[in-house]
Amino acid sequence: MARRVSIGVRVGEIAIGNGAPVVVQSMTNTDTEDAPATAQQVYDLWRAGSELVRITVNTPEAAAQVPHIRERLDAMGCDVPLIGDFHFNGHKLLSQHPDCARALAKYRINPGNVGKGAKRDDQFATMIEAAIQYGKPVRIGVNWGSLDPELLARMMDENGRRGAKDGASAVPLSADEVMREAMIVSGLESAAQARKLGLPAERIVISCKLSGVQDLILVYRELARRCEYALHLGLTEAGMGSKGIVASSAAMAVLLQEGIGDTIRVSLTPEPNGDRTREVVVAQELLQTMGLRSFTPLVAACPGCGRTTSTYFQELAQRIQTYLRDQMPAWKQRYPGVEDMKVAVMGCVVNGPGESKHADVGISLPGTNESPVAPVYVDGEKTVTLKGARIAEEFQAIVERYVQDNFSPGAQRRRPSRPQAVLSGPQAVAIKAVK
Ligand code: SF4
Repeated sequence: MARRVSIGVRVGEIAIGNGAPVVVQSMTNTDTEDAPATAQQVYDLWRAGSELVRITVNTPEAAAQVPHIRERLDAMGCDVPLIGDFHFNGHKLLSQHPDCARALAKYRINPGNVGKGAKRDDQFATMIEAAIQYGKPVRIGVNWGSLDPELLARMMDENGRRGAKDGASAVPLSADEVMREAMIVSGLESAAQARKLGLPAERIVISCKLSGVQDLILVYRELARRCEYALHLGLTEAGMGSKGIVASSAAMAVLLQEGIGDTIRVSLTPEPNGDRTREVVVAQELLQTMGLRSFTPLVAACPGCGRTTSTYFQELAQRIQTYLRDQMPAWKQRYPGVEDMKVAVMGCVVNGPGESKHADVGISLPGTNESPVAPVYVDGEKTVTLKGARIAEEFQAIVERYVQDNFSPGAQRRRPSRPQAVLSGPQAVAIKAVK
């Protein structure tokens, strides 16, 4: 799989672009003025695997809390780089709160929300100058919901005159086409303006987010073609639950498959009191199921059917997946490479043994009317048959032992991981080296 060549950007210790692994990021939904709650959510997102976390910086009080949020995180042993999300008053906040400007690792600037008329350029320049002064990268984050109205009006006018001026052969673009083009122009013109002010290309990331899957694909393909800036990928306003997950995955998978995208965010609307970390899990699973990165051992499970009428195998699959994910923060340090492990939990004898043999550790549970025994396969070989009331506990112990035996430092893994996608091109690195 070839990745688009992009200019590398460092955000704190995290590398974006230039062949680096696709970075997972997320955003808090706490009030930034509430430093304890925001620090806790940043911590939770980081523990879930978010490599960068963005926080809203919308008021002087919020800006004043940013350094304290950073201090709290440092005290919790969390070094995740914080990104400040600025709109409307970012120029004031960055110039009046130098400690905030320093504590952040990157600034997100929305060129559609920087200011109107003559003020726009000055206010944009103030933010870029802060980035230059404090040595920070910026994301020029265009969003179709806040697309620069003056730019859009200008491009609509130009489009209207196009047919009249150039004759019948020059067909004006549709309104949707102009909007998509305006998104790209907004990102590229703002980046050019930032460069002119002295911000190097190595400190610029661009995003152009829309909520339509096809629109997003079209815009990013074109953006990728026209520039070498690192690209932040995400479908905006993706929605809630399965709709948001499917829409984000559909859009981003197409682009990632084409090598486009250096960092991703899955913008899920959480259910009331829902877990914000779900967007991190979805982003990781998207990258891992595409073979782009590995984060956590994955559990293959069959969907179940009329051959298995109990929910036991579903419960076991869920239990094992949760167990593996919960162990990862500690396992990541202790058992290098464990994230590549594959576990199978299958519902009956039809596909159970076969799928289990393909996994590193697999169990084939008994279907309806089958003998109440569960053969376990390790590295493709049947090793034990479990039965009775403690199958779940015993299987979990087998998985844990497999991890210790195969992933402890110095352990010789009996069955090496299948190779993952390998990058090509002049800036290529092997994705399998990604951790
Ligand atoms: S493995 Fe068995 S229970 Fe699972 S879907 Fe296939 S036939 Fe049904």
